[in-house]
Formats: sequence, C-alpha cells, structure tokens
Amino acid sequence: MQTRANYLLVFFILLLTYGSFGLDSDPPDAKKFVIMIDPGHGGRDGGTPGTGRYKTTEKDIALDVSLGLGKLLESELSYVEVLYTRSKDVFPTLKSRPIAANEKGADLFISIHCNAQPGRKGTAYGSETYVLGLHKTDANLEVAKRENSVIFLEEDYEETYQGFDPNSPESLIGLMIMQEDYLDQSIELASYIENEFKTTAKRKSRGVKQAGFWVLAQTYMPSVLVELGFLTHRKEEDYLNSSKGKRAMTRSLFNAVKRYVDLRIDQQQEIAMATTEGTNGNTVADTALYTDITFKVQIAASSRNLETKPFNFKGLDDLSKEKRGKIYRYFYGATSDLNEIERKKIEAIKKGYSTAFIVAFKNGERIPMNTVLKTTSN
Ligand SMILES: [Zn+2]
Repeated sequence: MQTRANYLLVFFILLLTYGSFGLDSDPPDAKKFVIMIDPGHGGRDGGTPGTGRYKTTEKDIALDVSLGLGKLLESELSYVEVLYTRSKDVFPTLKSRPIAANEKGADLFISIHCNAQPGRKGTAYGSETYVLGLHKTDANLEVAKRENSVIFLEEDYEETYQGFDPNSPESLIGLMIMQEDYLDQSIELASYIENEFKTTAKRKSRGVKQAGFWVLAQTYMPSVLVELGFLTHRKEEDYLNSSKGKRAMTRSLFNAVKRYVDLRIDQQQEIAMATTEGTNGNTVADTALYTDITFKVQIAASSRNLETKPFNFKGLDDLSKEKRGKIYRYFYGATSDLNEIERKKIEAIKKGYSTAFIVAFKNGERIPMNTVLKTTSN
C-alpha cells in the first residue's frame, strides 16, 4: 500500500506540474499507463498443438496467462489500464492486433505465445522473449516464421499484408514504422521478463532475442513477444498446462511489467522535478561535447508532411524533419552538446511533447544513442 500511495502521489505531482503550465493535456484518467496484452492465436488458429497429449493448444495457455496477467495488473496497480486484443477464444487477424494497440494509444504491447520445436525431438525447453529485429540465428528465424504464418489462415492475405512474406521477415523492414524508436525500452522490458522467469518461476531462460514479427513491427510503442516455453517438450508442456505453472509465469510477467512501468513513472517524475527546478538547475554541467555527433530532440512522428514552423509545433523553433519510409519525424534543436539537448528535451516536454526523446546523428545518419554514449566511456 505504501508504494501504491507513493505512485498516486507521483501522479498528483505530475498533474500539478503539467497543469500549472496550462497545457492542453489529456484528462486525468488518460494519465493511466495503458498496456495492450495480446494473447497469441485464437479461434480456428490453435497455435502449436505441442506433443498432442493435451486437448489444449498454444492459444489456450496464451489466453489463460494473458487474462491472469491483466487481472493482476488491474487489481494491484491502480495507475495501469489493461486492454486485450482478444479476451476469449476468437481469431483476430494478425493485422488487427497492432492496429488496436495503436488506436488505443497503448504505452506497452505484450504478445504472449508458446514455443514449438520443429521435428519430433522435443528436446528444446525454456522461455524466450523477443523484440523486433533481424534474426541472428536460424532458430530465431523459425520462431518468427511460425508466428507470422498465421497470416496464411486469412483470406486475401497477399492484399492485406502488402508484399509481406511471412517466411521472409526481412520483407518487414520496408513496412516497419516506428518500432526502432522504442527498441531500447523493449529490450529493457524483455530482459526483466526473462530475469523473472529465471528467478521467480525458476525456469530455464533462453534469453532476450530478436526476429521479424509482424505484430511487433507494426506497433508505435515498446513491444515484446513472449514465448513462455516449449509445448513440444513433455515436461514443459505439463508445467504450462498446470495451474501452478501458469500462476508462476503470470506472476513473473507481472513483476517484470511492474518494474518497467514504475521506472517509467519515476523518470516522468524526475522530468517533472527538473522542469520545476528550471533549466539552470545545478544537476547538469554546462556542456558535454561530442564533436562528431549532432543531437536532436524527436518531438513527433507522423505520416503528415508539416512545415517546420513554430505555429505547427506549439511555438518551438529550431525545427527540422526527416522522411523515413512513409513517416516524417520532426526534431527540435541540433547541437553537439548533450547537456544542451537534455535542456531542450525538458523544454519540449514542458510544451506538451511528453514523449520527446533524444536522437543522435553522425555524418547525417541516425545512430543509436547507446553507441554514442559507449564511445566516450572507452
Ligand atoms: Zn504463437
């Protein structure tokens, strides 16, 4: 109760802080952290049948664990709102799942599945949590192919998925929208999840992995796809069908998601504090120069091509934009000084761009922030 009271307090502070700047911000209940849970498969798509010893298949276990997770989140975290792509045994298309998450403006997308080992060996076991990326091993590629292949059950899939070949996740690259912006956060959550499976559920973790999954490529928020375990492995199949097993996996997911959400809220609180202290606070040194790098604050991304004028961006100037794929990204500021850009980020957040974040460019090419910060520590 103590922590819950603390988080309520944080929200109160946030409301006061943002409210005092007179922003046209969302109504208070929209401040909840929205999590879209996606139980894999459903209806005529059973997912993997496992060893075939059970009537249940992947879709049933995914649904049980998803509903259990949602229930825990809603009952224990008053600041979280849970939505589902399906809450019963129905078959939403693969395409509709990320669309639902995007339309609801979810802050997090979690797709829940069970794994299968091809062939008859059934020796592989353990959990895996995926973020979007190019597969590094054939095994990861096989997982993505199997999960993407649901598309073949849909009519007119060639038209619906515009050139996406479920067997060639590389074909996703051109269709990827914004997920790369959320990769760091997705990896963070994925590592909490795998860690919890190991420590809380005492399972074997096969680690955080990358592959090209349709549902992950199409979301506008941090997104992970969890493979709870292998239904082709007899013992693991028994475990995942048992209520003890499902309870332990659900509790592990809950702990990981709670940790992630609480950290996000802490960060928002820090930003709110920094904002109230003003930009001359003594927490930030004056300059931190990275000579080859240009930092910018990404304030928005949209398919609309807007003029980079202050009236389009809540009065901010020093704007630039970049088109990647079908999406325009809009930036505020341009400097080699990391501290300067931190201040600009806070300024952008004050103006109402609450999800603004810093990006880095080298020779005009976007590079990941973590590589920039790594180069200086060595
Ligand atoms: Zn699946």
